[in-house]
Amino acid sequence: MEKLLKGKIVADALDEKTLVRVGKLKEKGLVPKLAIVRVGENESDLSYERGALKRCDKLGIEVEKHVLDMSCSQEELIDVIHSLNDDKSVHGVLMFRPLPKSFDEDVVCNELIAKKDVDGITRGSNAYIYSSKGSGFEPCTAGAVIDILKHYDIDIAGKKVVVVGRSLVIGKPVSMLFLNENATVTICHSKTKDMKEITKSADIVVAAIGKAEFLDDEFFSENQIIIDVGINYSDEKKKLVGDVNFENMEGKAIAITPVPGGVGSVTTAELAKHVVMAAENLTK
Ligand code: NAP
Repeated sequence: MEKLLKGKIVADALDEKTLVRVGKLKEKGLVPKLAIVRVGENESDLSYERGALKRCDKLGIEVEKHVLDMSCSQEELIDVIHSLNDDKSVHGVLMFRPLPKSFDEDVVCNELIAKKDVDGITRGSNAYIYSSKGSGFEPCTAGAVIDILKHYDIDIAGKKVVVVGRSLVIGKPVSMLFLNENATVTICHSKTKDMKEITKSADIVVAAIGKAEFLDDEFFSENQIIIDVGINYSDEKKKLVGDVNFENMEGKAIAITPVPGGVGSVTTAELAKHVVMAAENLTK
């Protein structure tokens, strides 16, 4: 059986380092603070929020919540973002999406200042990922992918990486992070032809398409590292599954992230790390 790249071990290791950094900030009289902005009571947002609150509590990061009713206006939400931009005690802002359908998400996201954008939702953060200049952060999930590989001492430089998916949340930013780590990157999407041949030629495959168990053993060759970002509910199996058909991967991958328990377990640790980095940036 292939090696399981479990996320919890990675999250614990990240937390250890974050805790030390929080301690150093507190010695300087600075308590890192995250503001969570949520519209409505979506269950998956609430579940992520509970995880983030628990993680921040454990690490000594303060959290304040701003919860708006689904009937709020776009202007009311933007007012909250502006107040958080101006609030010197807040270092990072996490805003849950998708926003209500009538909102222009691009407009709302870009009201947040990039230096507090700890989940990479602004154009400022995109520019930062592309140029390594200016302010901003990568989306926590994209950062988690890289940190998992680093934790397990899997070399990235010079490797052929195939990312399946090109969303702004995962596919595009994670591709750029791999490039920054000197990998040779190919991005696949719904219009890609002969995708099986492309994924089979990779050293590392990142699956981020949002289709339950879509990538079966025909997409893979032996000795690959597979990072499954997908989180999908399977009606048939009545449980969460990834984008990779984990059960028929026997003998293919040399290492694979499980779902659940893989990438998703690292994202709040990544978030906490970003909040602390945002606070540290103030002291430089
Ligand atoms: P998304 O915005 O729907 O994007 C999906 C991407 O996959 C698109 O680029 C799409 O291509 C591509 N795609 C769809 N079907 C394809 C196919 N048959 N062949 C090749 N490419 C295909 O989804 P997302 O927000 O990136 O999320 C992807 C998955 O990650 C979801 O399962 C989501 O739940 C999960 N996720 C996990 C975490 C975590 O913490 N682990 C966080 C966020 C999201 P086109 O661009 O051509 O349409």
